[in-house]
Formats: sequence, C-alpha cells, structure tokens
Amino acid sequence: MPICPICKREAKRMLTCEHTDGEEVCIECYQEIHYKLTEHR
Ligand SMILES: [Zn+2]
Ligand SMILES: [Zn+2]
Repeated sequence: MPICPICKREAKRMLTCEHTDGEEVCIECYQEIHYKLTEHR
C-alpha cells in the first residue's frame, strides 16, 4: 500500500490535486488540506 507523505500512514486510496503540490496524499489529509483552504474566504 502507498504511504501518505503527510501523515506517514498507509492509505488504501491516494488523491492528488494542485493543492497537494502534485503529491499523492491520503483522503484524510486531502480533506484537511481543502478544509483549511475553505476556512478563510
Ligand atoms: Zn495522510
Ligand atoms: Zn485541491
């Protein structure tokens, strides 16, 4: 299984987008990144 570079945990699925700097991250980290992005308008 791939390992998330942010939380260093194994993830079944990895997601990537422009906000992750082209890196694949786990779904939890992915959601957290976008949560922070939408926190402040
Ligand atoms: Zn992660
Ligand atoms: Zn994004």
